[in-house]
Amino acid sequence: MNQHVVIVGGGPVGAAFALALADSGLEVTVLEARQVTAPLASRAIALSESSHLILERLGVWNQLVANAAPIRSIHISENGRFGRTLLTAEQFNHPTLGYVVDYVHLGAVLEQALDQKLTQRVQLRYGATVQSLQPDAEGCTVNFEQAGESLSIRAQLTVVADGGRSINNIPGLNRETRDYGQSALVARVRTELPHNFMAFERFTKNGPVALLPWNADEMALVWVETPEKAEQLRQLIDVRFLSDLHQHFGDRLGKFTSVAHRNLFPLKMASVRPATAQHLAVIGNAAQTLHPIAGQGFNLGLRDAWELAQSIAITPHAELGGVAMLAQYSRSRRKDTGGGMLFTDFLVQTFSKDIPMLGGLRGAGLAALDMLVPAKQYLMRKMSFGAQK
Ligand SMILES: Cc1cc2nc3c(=O)[nH]c(=O)nc-3n(C[C@H](O)[C@H](O)[C@H](O)COP(=O)(O)OP(=O)(O)OC[C@H]3O[C@@H](n4cnc5c(N)ncnc54)[C@H](O)[C@@H]3O)c2cc1C
Repeated sequence: MNQHVVIVGGGPVGAAFALALADSGLEVTVLEARQVTAPLASRAIALSESSHLILERLGVWNQLVANAAPIRSIHISENGRFGRTLLTAEQFNHPTLGYVVDYVHLGAVLEQALDQKLTQRVQLRYGATVQSLQPDAEGCTVNFEQAGESLSIRAQLTVVADGGRSINNIPGLNRETRDYGQSALVARVRTELPHNFMAFERFTKNGPVALLPWNADEMALVWVETPEKAEQLRQLIDVRFLSDLHQHFGDRLGKFTSVAHRNLFPLKMASVRPATAQHLAVIGNAAQTLHPIAGQGFNLGLRDAWELAQSIAITPHAELGGVAMLAQYSRSRRKDTGGGMLFTDFLVQTFSKDIPMLGGLRGAGLAALDMLVPAKQYLMRKMSFGAQK
């Protein structure tokens, strides 16, 4: 047996998981396909309170928060309907409802922290692309390519955190995918009126549009449309894009005055079930890829990473990746991941359909929710900690 744990993918979830294991005394190798110098596309990630707590335990929160924007309130509305809901940090008795960080900064902070823990036992290999996995009764063989060489490594436990991007044929696991027929256009925008660290989620018949505070002056835009329309929007000249956005979003922030870093992401829901096989576990986006409507994907994936590290911590080294350990891990995650997927899909299905009666109910629902502080507190608890708490 070469290694105790091999992690496929050093994105934010894989890196956080490696960091959680770094002081465990286990031999851990992370295989990351990217070259160390490869640039990543900047985009906003809204972090929940559960992520804040986990990232604090991993010792990276102070570096992260130095470049994060707090979310002090969330305004939820629907285009063309009367209902709206305002969630505020005060209703939750908390200083913020979450934080917005850059995906690039998040990855860099986790990688730097991991770099400081690298030893003979904990290794991170860049430019290492995993090609296939062969789990068996004793462990799992991971075949990968690095610098033109075909290599393999054996692990007692292999953890797939490749974002669901590459390893589709894992023996014993089924991947289900549903294309939403939507793309998210992300960008950074400036507005005429100050955002005062309020996030906006506005539902429209084509899909939601979200604006998150990025820093004191800028906001991160996530505009969901059909793939064709999103591509057209990406190509529009700035002045036209800004006026289309104003028309689509409404007047709440005045005019949009600048836009930068436009990028597109096709949207789908995907899941791997079960998320464990003998000597193998799948975590993060590789286990469940969600629509960004509720900003839950990374938050859920980070809880996968943290809970798996906790399961490992209570397992004798000889039983790592065994049936009992993986069954305990699966049980600990079932409610949270299932709930997160159902909730997100419910929002997509309910708020992206142009059915007149449904529209009336949605408006009434948002208006009613606005008056019910306990219901808002319940919703925020679920958004902050998932279905486990
Ligand atoms: C528009 C948009 C907005 C979002 N907003 C939010 C939000 O506000 N809040 C939130 O919580 N989530 C959000 N998400 C979801 C979030 O981005 C993902 O959940 C998160 O990035 C998942 O991290 P991951 O590490 O699992 O996967 P990834 O970030 O995809 O990382 C996977 C890593 O694996 C590596 N890799 C891939 N294949 C291989 C291979 N064969 N061998 C080795 N390495 C490999 C890749 O190079 C990459 O580094 C959003 C997503 C989108 C698209």
